[in-house]
Amino acid sequence: MNRRQFIKVFGIGGGILAGGLALPALVAEKWGPDDPETDDPREASFWEEDAGSLPETDRITSDRQMDVAVIGSGITGLSAACALKEIQPDLKVCVIDSHRPCSGASSRNSAHMRGEYNAWDSIYSSQGAGAALEWNKFALRGLEAAVDFIQGNNIDCDIHPEPLIWVGTEKQTGALESTVGRMKEAGIKAILHTGKEFHDKSGTDYYSSGIEDHNNYIMHTGKLMKGFLERVLERGIPVYGHSPVLNVTNTDSNTETNILETPNGSVATKKVLFATNAYTPRIRGLLSSRMVPIVLASIATEPMSPAQRNAAGFAWNHMTEAQLISRTIGHTSDNRIFFRGILGYSSFNSCLWKNLEGAYQKLEREMRERLPWAEGLKVTHKWSGAVGMPYSSTPIAGPLPGKGQYASVGYSGSGMVHGFYHGRLVAYQMAGADHPDLKYLRGPSGWIPPEPHRSIGAKTFFFLAS
Ligand SMILES: Cc1cc2nc3c(=O)[nH]c(=O)nc-3n(C[C@H](O)[C@H](O)[C@H](O)COP(=O)(O)OP(=O)(O)OC[C@H]3O[C@@H](n4cnc5c(N)ncnc54)[C@H](O)[C@@H]3O)c2cc1C
Repeated sequence: MNRRQFIKVFGIGGGILAGGLALPALVAEKWGPDDPETDDPREASFWEEDAGSLPETDRITSDRQMDVAVIGSGITGLSAACALKEIQPDLKVCVIDSHRPCSGASSRNSAHMRGEYNAWDSIYSSQGAGAALEWNKFALRGLEAAVDFIQGNNIDCDIHPEPLIWVGTEKQTGALESTVGRMKEAGIKAILHTGKEFHDKSGTDYYSSGIEDHNNYIMHTGKLMKGFLERVLERGIPVYGHSPVLNVTNTDSNTETNILETPNGSVATKKVLFATNAYTPRIRGLLSSRMVPIVLASIATEPMSPAQRNAAGFAWNHMTEAQLISRTIGHTSDNRIFFRGILGYSSFNSCLWKNLEGAYQKLEREMRERLPWAEGLKVTHKWSGAVGMPYSSTPIAGPLPGKGQYASVGYSGSGMVHGFYHGRLVAYQMAGADHPDLKYLRGPSGWIPPEPHRSIGAKTFFFLAS
């Protein structure tokens, strides 16, 4: 297996391992800081700003007792909290976040809800089309459950089916041709476009072909999270913001099995769910050998006028490059362009990028290179975010070794459906309830080396892959 095939099967985590293992096998556990990154300023994303202010929430200011505490108020944590209350209405459930509620990746992404299993292509390569089809059907059930929840709860977030176009340059056309065949075998509604027809619909000469992928919905991610938070609060589930969980201790007690320490009070709880995405390894090294935070950044322009949009001449609103270090080009409903890139691994499991301004400038250059007609459009919004990348892009969901401790993390760039559905399924597990899709939950996959190998491996990998 060569490096490219290895990375295809094992993803970015595998690439980092490959890079890391090129070094002498000296292993230093817990190298670097392992406390939560609480000084992360989290500039608002376009979506968050556009959605307007969130409902008021409290902070933890004294000790309290719960049946279940969910750490993380992103889509995963809120979905799990709602499912727990559905299954056991009397359960005392709370959600705790270190920052503004819903200000993690869930409100700073590219707004796609994809009904495809994140690791379907690697499953196809290692286990064949039948297995990939089965996992994609699971992901599609997740998408349907998320759409049902959003519509059933009247969350006004402009959700609608819209194709996502996987685009490639001339050099990548051959690869796209073989990908579309695999997609169809794996149950994804996909059509390949090339030539003039592709150019007319994409509005750019930078790419030469694209796969129209119909297993996709688009929404306003800021409005989604705002509506989700409102529904959680209406169900009587307290959400505490600005209350970082600094430590979680297991005890022998049956009622106060886990003690969660925050700066101004502790929460004693039977069960705890870590729905903490890329921030997980910074909670005392939790799952740090199984996932790695990867930092992404986005920019958005001022709205295009109808004349500018006509002159640009494109039919497709959402395109993603069909490669590991991809960029996404999207359009908002008020006719802005947003452009998302992958920055890389920031060392010591940090979700912050040191030279963000430089990264935004590079993104702007890349956007203008791909969309020359965007020349006069001013960039008005810039934001970054992080995703948790497990070894083979397989989400980590289920019980942890600690008593009453569970995790639902590691959704890479496909967390809006996976986070929603896995969060919901882990809630079933925590409540001891059955669900036919519990068999699709997976625990931690392959090992990723600690620092300094992690940093050197990751930096080598991103250098070679970009
Ligand atoms: C730029 C970008 C583009 C993306 N595009 C897409 C896309 O188009 N489609 C898609 O499906 N996915 C996309 N993703 C990925 C997706 O956004 C994530 O996978 C998903 O939001 C994960 O949800 P979550 O609830 O698990 O995590 P988050 O939304 O990040 O929530 C985790 C929460 O945990 C909190 N937390 C962490 N540590 C602690 C602690 N110690 N104490 C208390 N609270 C804590 C954090 O503050 C955070 O609010 C993108 C991500 C980014 C960054």
